[in-house]
Amino acid sequence: MKIIIHRGAEELGGNCIELVSGESRLLLDYGAPPRTDGAEAAPEAAILNIPGLYEKATPPISGLIISHTHQDHYGALLARPINPGVKVFMTEIMEDTIRVTTKMRRDAQPLKANIHYFRKGHKFIAGRFVITPYLMEHTAAESFAFLIESDGKRVIYTGDYREHGNKAAAFKQFLAVKAGPIDALITEGNQAGIEKGPGELEVIAHVEDKIKGRNGALYVMCAGQDIGLLTSLAYLAKNTRRYLVVDGYVALLLERLKALALKQGVELKSPGLHTEYLRIIRNEATQRVYQLSEYAETFSRMRPQMFGWDWIRANLGRLIIPVRANTHLWVKDQINDLRGATLLYSAWESYAEEDGMAETLEWFKTRGLTDVPTPSTGHAYFSTIRKLIENKKPRCIIPVNTEHPEKFTAAFGKRVRLPKNGEEIEI
Ligand SMILES: [Zn+2]
Repeated sequence: MKIIIHRGAEELGGNCIELVSGESRLLLDYGAPPRTDGAEAAPEAAILNIPGLYEKATPPISGLIISHTHQDHYGALLARPINPGVKVFMTEIMEDTIRVTTKMRRDAQPLKANIHYFRKGHKFIAGRFVITPYLMEHTAAESFAFLIESDGKRVIYTGDYREHGNKAAAFKQFLAVKAGPIDALITEGNQAGIEKGPGELEVIAHVEDKIKGRNGALYVMCAGQDIGLLTSLAYLAKNTRRYLVVDGYVALLLERLKALALKQGVELKSPGLHTEYLRIIRNEATQRVYQLSEYAETFSRMRPQMFGWDWIRANLGRLIIPVRANTHLWVKDQINDLRGATLLYSAWESYAEEDGMAETLEWFKTRGLTDVPTPSTGHAYFSTIRKLIENKKPRCIIPVNTEHPEKFTAAFGKRVRLPKNGEEIEI
């Protein structure tokens, strides 16, 4: 089997990895590359010139598998419709999350692809590859690692993962999988520079102690589809007698995710329209959901929890406000008063997974709130990566999305391969 990392070997994100077995070709992820200048990159900049992706080729691409719905793992799919002959594999929840997210922007291109669903733990086939998806703990609505088998070779691709959020059980279950001898492990290493850090629940408990009895809004950097953190914030709201304030987009995602999970027999503990201390603001995103007639039924159920700006201003001291891209626009227009407020954000994240979040954080940082940078991240600490490698014992380790390849070579020596983008590795 051959492995070619088209993008992601030398940068954080923008992943696209090709596996070749005989006449079969499989792609893993098709992410938009990270932005380097802070400006929004043109969507076309994400397009890779891989034979078969946009036109017919011999041999054809047997499948493209998406690990999770962060821009840096699927964003290039939106740049230009790919060849409909290529099967694109993702879960139903992932497709729905992408559809809701793209509809929020009037100018965004809808996802056009020949989509096939996979389900966690259920093997599926693409060309000569047999693929088993495993649910991982990460900050997307759903995130998967894959065991890929062909011609007696076995490769694991981790996607993005960690073990310290509130779905930590997923990582434990992945360790428990008896996958057989692994020829190559392709692992993310976004935060490999950090040996170990606290869990998200510890961070939230610390914040709870800090804000108990305090009268002031709590702003928390939290992407719209970071369901794990939204769930933690809902508990924090309950424990500190506060309200969790979201917009129509987040409320819609939460509701749809719950409904889709329930369809598969899983009852999620995430907040939703049933959560009594959830409040929905009437901002532009909420207005946009109102315009989308396909969500009219959900929107009508949102109405009882929608409160006007007067209510928001009168109850400011008791609000927990997840901050996502462009939150500062309505905060500036409708609240403006940031006295006594606290800003919670990760000191280690680049917030590149949702366009505009980094800029929003900068705005908040210069407004004199009490800053609480926390040691927290959506990615695996090096201790977690080490645990996975010691557990799966791969013959060869290929880190992607990392600025710390030296951590890998220092820990695992010659087993580590550090290819350049486009270089072929034979395993
Ligand atoms: Zn991610």
